[in-house]
Amino acid sequence: MQHVAITGSNRGIGLEVVRQLASRPETEIYAMCRKPDVAAELRALSKDSNGRVHLIALEVTDDASIRAAAAAVGTKTDRIDLLINNAAINPPGKTQTLETITSAEMLHVLHVNTVAPLLVVQAFTELLKKGSLPKVVNLSSEMGSLDDRDYGGYYGYCTSKAALNMVTRGLAADLAGYGIVTISLDPGWVQTEMGGDGADLTPEDSVRGILRVVDSLTRKDNGTYLRWNGRTLAW
Ligand code: NDP
Repeated sequence: MQHVAITGSNRGIGLEVVRQLASRPETEIYAMCRKPDVAAELRALSKDSNGRVHLIALEVTDDASIRAAAAAVGTKTDRIDLLINNAAINPPGKTQTLETITSAEMLHVLHVNTVAPLLVVQAFTELLKKGSLPKVVNLSSEMGSLDDRDYGGYYGYCTSKAALNMVTRGLAADLAGYGIVTISLDPGWVQTEMGGDGADLTPEDSVRGILRVVDSLTRKDNGTYLRWNGRTLAW
């Protein structure tokens, strides 16, 4: 049995990860989201899963909620083999330009996209230590690549994902001794509420790629920055 925990699982890429993993009989999924009571699609998946998709409440900007979610998962399993930090925000571009960006906007995006993933790993570390080839996957973005940054704007989102990549590198060093593999992963440009209808990839294709990459991770991948198709991204 593989035990998987994921944040932001009620829609978009997170929901599709749960859908594809739920089709694997040997998987137990701890699907975390802000409002499990109204997460209709996730609830339907859970209902059809023979009790293998567990819904857990998690607001990632609330430290107590993070600790409560980890504790709730800990009542159902003594180990996590895969933790996916998926929840994130990318506010409208017009609020993230040089002219419009505010400290409140910057700090909010950094809280959701950078600080929260670190604190989620902190709360799940004991469960991860008991996992089998345990993995932490931080959903980053090509927009977090310094190398690729030849355009302006998106100060909150780009900065938060570059900083998340730094969190990945720190975790990779801190957790390597426990055999935990940590990576940053770019899902591609995906047709979700965040990616928009014009994006390149369907959630199905992106998540098929993501799971192929995640399944194939070994210790030598620790601390890397990969694309959904397995290629390496420049930091
Ligand atoms: P969506 O906007 O479709 O979904 C975002 C998810 O994050 C939702 O489940 C949302 O929950 C959750 N979330 C947001 N804020 C919080 C919070 N404070 N607490 C808990 N959950 C929260 O995004 P995608 O599915 O497209 O993106 C998934 C990941 O992939 C993100 O990390 C994103 O940055 C990354 N990515 C996406 C790309 C794309 O093209 N789509 C491109 C590159 C990277 P709620 O419904 O409650 O708001």
